Amino acid sequence: MTTPTHVAADIAVFLALTHVPGLNPNTADFVLLIGSNLIDIDHLFSHPIYHPRRNPFTTHTLHKSWLVLGAVSCALLFIRPLMFIAIGLLLHFALDYLYVRWFVMPAL
Ligand SMILES: [Zn+2]
Repeated sequence: MTTPTHVAADIAVFLALTHVPGLNPNTADFVLLIGSNLIDIDHLFSHPIYHPRRNPFTTHTLHKSWLVLGAVSCALLFIRPLMFIAIGLLLHFALDYLYVRWFVMPAL
């Protein structure tokens, strides 16, 4: 999934979370949520850096360990300062999964 799509989804989720009673997300939470997209830094270790039909779960270093990072993220959902990183990572993996299902060639 492209970075603008990830950021737009993060903004939408953050705005939705502002309506959750008792959560009261602040600017730091927003930065953590958007910053979770830094997981895509593993694109820099691939050649070419961006390929629209490449499966990130089989080629990118950090995305390959999606199961471990997903499990850790689920645990971090209960720790307030890290909750928004966890939400961002889970949302990132979900969007990447949808992207793979819809657009990626099976051989790549
Ligand atoms: Zn990604």
